[in-house]
Amino acid sequence: MWTNWSGGQQCRPQRTDRPLDEAGVASAVRRAAERGLTVRPVGAGYSDSTLALTGDVHLDCSALTGIVGLKDDVVRVRAGARLAEVHTALAAQGRALATVPHGPAATVAGAIATGVHGGSRRGGSLSAQVVGARFVDGHGVLRVADDAELDALRCHLGVLGVLTVVALRTVPAERIDAHEEVVDIAEAVAPGGPLDTRPWATLELHQPSGEALLRWAGPAEHRVPAVEATGPLEAIGRVVTRVGHSASAQWSAQRSRPTPRWEGVPTGAPYELLPGPDPSRAAYTEWAVPREALPAALRELGSAAAARELEIRRPVEVRVGPAESGWLHPAYGRETGWIAVRSPRGDGHGPLFRLVGSVLEGMGGRPHWAGRHDWTAADITVAYPRFADFRAVRDRLDPDRLFAGAHIEELLGP
Ligand SMILES: Cc1cc2nc3c(=O)[nH]c(=O)nc-3n(C[C@H](O)[C@H](O)[C@H](O)COP(=O)(O)OP(=O)(O)OC[C@H]3O[C@@H](n4cnc5c(N)ncnc54)[C@H](O)[C@@H]3O)c2cc1C
Repeated sequence: MWTNWSGGQQCRPQRTDRPLDEAGVASAVRRAAERGLTVRPVGAGYSDSTLALTGDVHLDCSALTGIVGLKDDVVRVRAGARLAEVHTALAAQGRALATVPHGPAATVAGAIATGVHGGSRRGGSLSAQVVGARFVDGHGVLRVADDAELDALRCHLGVLGVLTVVALRTVPAERIDAHEEVVDIAEAVAPGGPLDTRPWATLELHQPSGEALLRWAGPAEHRVPAVEATGPLEAIGRVVTRVGHSASAQWSAQRSRPTPRWEGVPTGAPYELLPGPDPSRAAYTEWAVPREALPAALRELGSAAAARELEIRRPVEVRVGPAESGWLHPAYGRETGWIAVRSPRGDGHGPLFRLVGSVLEGMGGRPHWAGRHDWTAADITVAYPRFADFRAVRDRLDPDRLFAGAHIEELLGP
């Protein structure tokens, strides 16, 4: 029995292959085809959606690790390398990934498959850094991606082939200062506010308490002086600007409170400071709404949850990011506000997540592919203008639908 990281997704594959190299991937793919079985590649199992589930062959890519090489600003990494491994290897060479998401244990291929993003508007998602890839297609043939395929591969959902090596653009390594401030929600999420202007920023909303904690970071020249110290974090000596009030009304009740993570204003590499401790396991849904709709989306979500007396017991995480070019990337073609909602394991997330989905879909939201959602090919056809192009690439690379299964067919169609 295979179980994902959260414990919320399980499957019983007929067979699990764990290839050690490209040749092993190609033969595992061909073997499955000969037996008439489908294949689902899997990385660290950090996704909470059904993407990696199969009753046929699981292709566990986690042994395809290591850095192949760094030339100029491009690093070539094996697709099963964990992000943590890539961060530290690059740091030793004075380079860094432009994107630092929270889950350092995710694999490069898995993170690209689902469009994983961080909290910085500068570089975009990890998918946006992809400049090349090698993969085994649905015929079991090793290929080098051509430029015309890259925007399909940027958010590939594991249906175009099994990635073996990915080339990623890197940036010079930098050191940042990290800050925590209790802020007014409306000011924090307004266009042109700190989410947009700080080099790295994440807003944590506590629905029950109505408080918002801004975690942000930037090089020393971005340091701004603390304004006043009057908020709930003051008691434990944190930097505080303003405490949320009227704009937080929809988020008011009692229970969860912001928990500071950092002592003082720590300095370090983004990958050392930003990911945070591995959270306790939770069901997760995340939506990408147009950036300009973010304030209204949060207000709407807060009031809808309050009206239905649905408690959001984990902090809601809000980030922003630039428009993406990946054809199935949730931020495709538009600047985006990301809203992530988590529910403790065993807490019955169904009603809350359905509400989140219906409210945010109504505001033009598209689901993060790694989170829970109920989208099907019909929704994707409406929301993604390049879906037909993605399908054309899929038809060419995997005409027999080797990388499929019931869940994938529901999501993407036959
Ligand atoms: C603690 C935690 C923190 C997170 N933080 C963030 C965050 O900050 N930002 C964000 O956007 N997301 C975040 N996520 C979501 C997570 O990072 C993504 O789900 C990512 O896809 C996980 O990578 P993985 O290696 O676990 O992939 P898996 O979940 O194993 O697989 C995901 C997809 O990748 C495909 N796949 C895997 N390997 C290959 C391969 N070699 N070739 C082809 N397809 C492949 C699978 O078939 C599947 O479709 C977080 C998740 C957790 C649990």
